[in-house]
Amino acid sequence: MSRSPQQNEFVFFTRNLLKWYHAHGRDLPWRRTADPYAIWISEIMLQQTQVATVLPYYARFLSRFPTLRDLAAAPLDKVLKSWEGLGYYARARHLHRAANEMVARFEGNFPSRFEEILSLPGIGRSTAGAIATIALGQRHPILDGNVKRVLCRYFCVEEDPKKKETEKQLWQFSEKLLPRKEPDHYTQAIMDLGATICTPAEPRCPLCPVRNQCKAFEKGVQGRLPMKALGKRVPERDYVAGVLFRGKRVLIRRRPAKGLLGGLWEFPGGQVDLDGKGRSVEKKITEALRKEIPWRVDQWSPWGKVKHTFTHFKMTLHVYSGRSGERQGQNTDEQKWVDVEALSDYAFSSAHQKILLKLKEPTDGQRRLFS
Ligand code: SF4
Repeated sequence: MSRSPQQNEFVFFTRNLLKWYHAHGRDLPWRRTADPYAIWISEIMLQQTQVATVLPYYARFLSRFPTLRDLAAAPLDKVLKSWEGLGYYARARHLHRAANEMVARFEGNFPSRFEEILSLPGIGRSTAGAIATIALGQRHPILDGNVKRVLCRYFCVEEDPKKKETEKQLWQFSEKLLPRKEPDHYTQAIMDLGATICTPAEPRCPLCPVRNQCKAFEKGVQGRLPMKALGKRVPERDYVAGVLFRGKRVLIRRRPAKGLLGGLWEFPGGQVDLDGKGRSVEKKITEALRKEIPWRVDQWSPWGKVKHTFTHFKMTLHVYSGRSGERQGQNTDEQKWVDVEALSDYAFSSAHQKILLKLKEPTDGQRRLFS
């Protein structure tokens, strides 16, 4: 760090932010409850998703699983189905595991000690701090993506916040800013500031309550903070998915419980290497499909492509369809022949949901999802 902020910069920030929050804070459903279970659900949903997207999911999730015990008792499939479309499915699996742990370890109650909250699956230091502060009236700092951005700009931190040293410094700032009075309102206020004023692109500085002491604003460098590490190229990978019909039914398989999109259903397939010389793309794809579905299929025909971006790679999903005349492949917990109409009872990833749209008499708009 190039400089140590003065005490008055901390005091100014906290005081003005709280004043602003009392006038402009957002009225959100999870702010109308003191139930730690509901606040926990909202915090997990908000981890990688914006408020506007979370709102309907939050309402639906709580009407399906109104209490911690309801969530623990529900089958994982039902929880994943309620999460469908929200992405980052590990969050849903962790919620389910954590609910079961709370039943086993805390008699079905949400724990009240910070360390106990932190010990639950899917809860890191910042989320535990937010829950303990907002739901339980304790005082713990947070440092999520929004807060990191605000602090990097306010204190003009010109280092990559992912670096260990920088992160440590940001935690210290966050702790020092947290007031003794109203830490819950302060925590909600800094979340609101990051989400509505100090936004990633084009922060709305003229409306900002801490503008007069913001060092990035003073230097005019807010647009390039927080600093990013020199970006690595996001790799691109090809995948194949086979939509295999038998009469009016199609074959679906469940992904392994652990790993990317764990526990979700999909059309069988997998990664395929289309680089290099030799066999044609079509041949490589049909060979990959035969490996995945080793039965007699009349013919695999190209159906379209789906593009999807994950945090660590970009996927092109080559979708092929085929027909199977014989009775092959029994229904199990991991593999099912399902009537097209009943497919919506199963939780699919976003990429495979695009295939579902095509299966259900797509409109022109939906058809454009396929190139
Ligand atoms: S003045 Fe601008 S850059 Fe600084 S904290 Fe406010 S919105 Fe962010």
